[in-house]
Amino acid sequence: MTDTHSHLNDPKFSEDLDEVVKRAVDWGVGRINVVGYDVPSSVRAVEIAEGFPEVWAVVGLHPYEAERYSDEDLKKLRSLLTHPKVVAIGEIGLDYYRGPADRRVQRELFVRQIEMARETSFPVVLHVRDSFEDVVSVISDFPEVRFVFHSFSGGEREMEKVLPQKNWYVSFSGMLTFLAHVRRAAAIAPRDRTFVETDAPYLAPVPMRGKRNEPAYVKFTLERLAKVWGMGYAEAEKITDGNAERFFLFRKQGIGST
Ligand SMILES: [Zn+2]
Repeated sequence: MTDTHSHLNDPKFSEDLDEVVKRAVDWGVGRINVVGYDVPSSVRAVEIAEGFPEVWAVVGLHPYEAERYSDEDLKKLRSLLTHPKVVAIGEIGLDYYRGPADRRVQRELFVRQIEMARETSFPVVLHVRDSFEDVVSVISDFPEVRFVFHSFSGGEREMEKVLPQKNWYVSFSGMLTFLAHVRRAAAIAPRDRTFVETDAPYLAPVPMRGKRNEPAYVKFTLERLAKVWGMGYAEAEKITDGNAERFFLFRKQGIGST
């Protein structure tokens, strides 16, 4: 199993990080991505990845940073990309729910990071909140870049926009276990461009809802996906692990690699 999106860099894990990673490994999770949202959390993601062979880092500036980031922050981000355990840029995107009201500044930060991804051949992890149409319009200008819609929360209509784009992937979180419209989208999701995640400590899947989420619980989401796809767990695991392997830049050598 691969938990393609967690925030083990969140303070909620500062007390028991070792146990949380160990539990995930015991439950069969082979890889965990830790995702940043600003410079300190991205640096922290890399530090955690250095400490565990199973953990990898994703670095980026969330739309919340759009009014306060500096060019220096983008430089720092770019330097982190040279680290052997950094596997993608994210989470980046547009947030019309809680992000800055000025949509232009959000778009500027988003585009600057996509351009960095294009120049460096890094894949991109997308944060999309009440902004699906605009995100689609921005990323359509970058057909050569691989994107994943993290914690896909749309329905069939949104999934139908993803289907024709061979470089667009989708990742399902615990929402799949408690939202019927997400399951309907999953039913038609491309089998060769789908994987799973926790978004821990948020969005715990059924039967853990209301608890602090953690990478081990990705198993409940994968179980549900297997059911939606009408296949066994082992087959769904093999498919989604392979898709994640193809999408992220898990390096074959470097610090702590397996
Ligand atoms: Zn996240």
